[in-house]
Amino acid sequence: MTCQVCGRAPAMRVTFRRVVGMVLLARTVWVKATLCREHGERTGRAFLKRTLVEGWWSLFSLVIFNPIAIASNLAALRKLRALDAPVARPATARPAEAADRFTT
Ligand SMILES: [Zn+2]
Repeated sequence: MTCQVCGRAPAMRVTFRRVVGMVLLARTVWVKATLCREHGERTGRAFLKRTLVEGWWSLFSLVIFNPIAIASNLAALRKLRALDAPVARPATARPAEAADRFTT
């Protein structure tokens, strides 16, 4: 499994949430992606930061949605941090290049 952003491995499937409280309503924004440790941490921190600022401004999000989003983002970040540092996959010759090597 490789990162959707940089193509490096290892990567894992993660979901981050952020809540936007709007007095009487609340909206949850999700992202589901396969990310390496570096890009996962960057995305997770951005979502966590925004939900910590925007997530408290309605009763439901204050009591229910935002604490769930924060806990689930922290759990996803913890799993991502357990991944090894991302490395590029070894370069492999394209079939055309490999064929050229044997014909010249
Ligand atoms: Zn990446």
